[in-house]
Amino acid sequence: MQFLADYLEQVKAARLYRQTVVYKPVSAAHVQLNGQTCLLLASNNYLGLTHDPAVRQAAVDAIRLYGTGAGGARLTTGTFPLYEQLEQELAAFKGAEAALVFNSGYMANTGIISALAGPADVIFSDALNHASLIDGCRLARARVVIYRHADMEHLAYLLQMTACAGKRLIITDGVFSMDGDIAPLGSIVQIAARYKALIVVDDAHATGVLGPGGRGTAAYCGVADKVHVQIGTLSKALGAEGGFVTGSGDLIDYLKNKARSFIFSTALAPATIAAALAALRELSARPELVAKLTDNVLHARTLLQAAKIPVPAGITPIIPVIVGDSGIAVRITSELQQQGLIITAIRPPTVPAGTSRLRLTVTAAHTREELTAAVHAIRRTLTLCGKRRE
Ligand code: PMP
Repeated sequence: MQFLADYLEQVKAARLYRQTVVYKPVSAAHVQLNGQTCLLLASNNYLGLTHDPAVRQAAVDAIRLYGTGAGGARLTTGTFPLYEQLEQELAAFKGAEAALVFNSGYMANTGIISALAGPADVIFSDALNHASLIDGCRLARARVVIYRHADMEHLAYLLQMTACAGKRLIITDGVFSMDGDIAPLGSIVQIAARYKALIVVDDAHATGVLGPGGRGTAAYCGVADKVHVQIGTLSKALGAEGGFVTGSGDLIDYLKNKARSFIFSTALAPATIAAALAALRELSARPELVAKLTDNVLHARTLLQAAKIPVPAGITPIIPVIVGDSGIAVRITSELQQQGLIITAIRPPTVPAGTSRLRLTVTAAHTREELTAAVHAIRRTLTLCGKRRE
């Protein structure tokens, strides 16, 4: 078993060692850490729905009605009534024929890609796609051709140059999880049509966030009816847990019969599905939620720019502050933590070497005052650590 210790030594030496830390949630935007209440600028709980009274109540009611666990897989006895409702309402929300819920976004991505593609097929994958999409490609055992991030000329060139006897799939995040930029779906749709390629979009960070009513990146880009497979998660803006896919009735039927991560795992718990359903209803009933998120994002981005903190232009709640060295990134986030601000340091292998960063996420649960104070703290700390000049 020496290899275990060897590996741990290696990651420690590279300053990439990670550990889980216990954060005690006290609200949608605050946690307690070592007895101190901190502001969370690191959560994907974009609309703050984890602590919404109606969402919490729905989860409690579901436990009373159906118990704590599903007790079976979806294709055996695990499909309780709330599942059907959630899938119908997710399909309606996305304007699709049908929807299917998976146990996580990760399981949706791995299960869907490996069900859609096989060894005869070619997958064209954005260089910055999320790990779960990459793992889905690996499981598919298809040939994977990687195009430079959001580079449409490169994508078109590779499609033209790559012989393919089977299907072509283009796979991309809608909103990229570590950079917060948006995939150019309008161009992807045009290029895909030329090569009869299927488009798969992972909208984990856009569901409930981007586009009219939070319907996602394809809706934002005006191509919702041209993206064949739209994947989302229930674990971020929808405040629960699980993943989902929307598309044609045939697609959903096919996945029920083919996606191994769907077939071979126990269904999610009633409380989880009830919470997701209630959150989806809150999202539709209260357009002010997405509006508040958008307003907060604009406020934070404007302040960061005014403070000359180097962040790329953008409109999503994911705001990277790239500092380069992973040691510096960790130092800055621990300084900020002492000031009561939780921001994640993102390091390789999650991002390419030399691009370690602070990854800020803004949510609708933040107040403007909290965001203003946070930007001041970040500004002071970056200056202190030599990553910003006054
Ligand atoms: N896709 C992207 C782009 C993600 O960022 C994540 C989660 N970090 C996932 C998929 C996985 O979703 P889940 O957490 O629901 O498994």
